[in-house]
Amino acid sequence: MIMAEPASDITRQAKTQLIHSDVIIIGAGPSGLAAAGALTRNGISSIVLEQHEQLGHSWRNHYDRLHLHTMKRWSALPFLPMPVDYPRYPSRDQVVAYLEAYADHFGIRPRYGEKVLRAQRLDGFWHVKTEAHHYVGAALVVASGYNHRPIWPDFEGRDNFTGSMMHSSSYRNGKPFKGQQVLVVGCGNSGAEIAIDLYECGAFPSLVVRSPIHVLPRELNGIPTQVNSLILSKLPVGLADAIAVKILNLAVGDLSAYGIRRPSIGPARQVNEFGRVPMLDIGTVDLIRQNKVIVRPGVRSLGAAGVTFVNGETHPYDVVILATGYTTGIADYLQESDKVLNEKNLPTRFGEESQIRGLYFIGFRNPITGMLREIDLEARRVSRLLRKQLRRVMV
Ligand SMILES: Cc1cc2nc3c(=O)[nH]c(=O)nc-3n(C[C@H](O)[C@H](O)[C@H](O)COP(=O)(O)OP(=O)(O)OC[C@H]3O[C@@H](n4cnc5c(N)ncnc54)[C@H](O)[C@@H]3O)c2cc1C
Repeated sequence: MIMAEPASDITRQAKTQLIHSDVIIIGAGPSGLAAAGALTRNGISSIVLEQHEQLGHSWRNHYDRLHLHTMKRWSALPFLPMPVDYPRYPSRDQVVAYLEAYADHFGIRPRYGEKVLRAQRLDGFWHVKTEAHHYVGAALVVASGYNHRPIWPDFEGRDNFTGSMMHSSSYRNGKPFKGQQVLVVGCGNSGAEIAIDLYECGAFPSLVVRSPIHVLPRELNGIPTQVNSLILSKLPVGLADAIAVKILNLAVGDLSAYGIRRPSIGPARQVNEFGRVPMLDIGTVDLIRQNKVIVRPGVRSLGAAGVTFVNGETHPYDVVILATGYTTGIADYLQESDKVLNEKNLPTRFGEESQIRGLYFIGFRNPITGMLREIDLEARRVSRLLRKQLRRVMV
């Protein structure tokens, strides 16, 4: 389905090459590959556009010690399980190898170095523009990542801080920080695991826990929390939370003496209403109990003396690592994005057709049951919907 021909007036660039496909997919991470694999399985051609020179770019650049927090069984992409010899929680490198094998299996060959600059629906077709090419398709799947652009909080006094500062997206391992006082800001799964890594590499980590959070062990009596969450997700939210809180009392107990407060609402409601997933603990809580990782409240300001917290205390730090999350970059290239994104730049519909005809989003929801599992479900659903939609177009 790929044909090259001279550009039309849409790009207003005489040298731009025009390329057609049934479906255009933006991003060659797990979501884009899952979409392409499921579409191939449904007999639909697609083109995957990737700004970098490799697929799975985000995974290749995650920190060294990272293993999936979710089970391999529920972290695989459509129609191809992870290898049987993988452990229950595969490593970063195993995930990357699996993504490569997935692309090979389905014959997916992303077009690399193709950063999408503009995507627009015009005259019933999707027009997607990169520096060198102009793609035209009946449908567009946006799979450019929930964790796209690092968020750097604008701390007062940052210019006066004499230590260094980095985002968790650039963190590889704790070796360079041996013997240093390091403050990790943010206690999601990345921040909590980086604190462990720092401690194991001989640094002195503190972890900012700004607001109340739910902490769940990754496994309870050998049963992964992902399994328990899936069972609870079938129940009404109130009941699921009542059971979850009982489990939390037994498994984790009260951590308020260490500076970790539990929210007044249960974990399921917190995910549904605020999109905040619990921290899946793989050892951080033990280190906190042993005072090997120190919990600090929210940051008020930075300065020459160090970091001042909302409780008025100031402590010196050599390094601040911001595990403060990401935003999507969708609005940068998608025209009329205000019709489909909320105030957090997240699509309001995913795994189904969005408010704009022929536009689908995959990989922008982080449920308690795991994002990769959600990507698998969304890609399967979108490919089925597109099969119907494209048949209608062709009839
Ligand atoms: C540290 C970390 C650990 C995680 N662990 C787990 C886990 O254990 N279990 C789980 O279920 N989930 C986990 N997740 C969440 C999620 O599964 C991953 O973020 C996953 O990589 C999402 O896949 P994706 O394809 O949607 O996004 P990405 O992997 O970010 O891929 C998006 C791709 O789109 C490309 N792109 C972006 N913009 C453009 C553009 N304009 N033009 C062309 N290409 C573009 C990017 O270069 C990238 O390659 C984790 C996330 C992080 C950050």
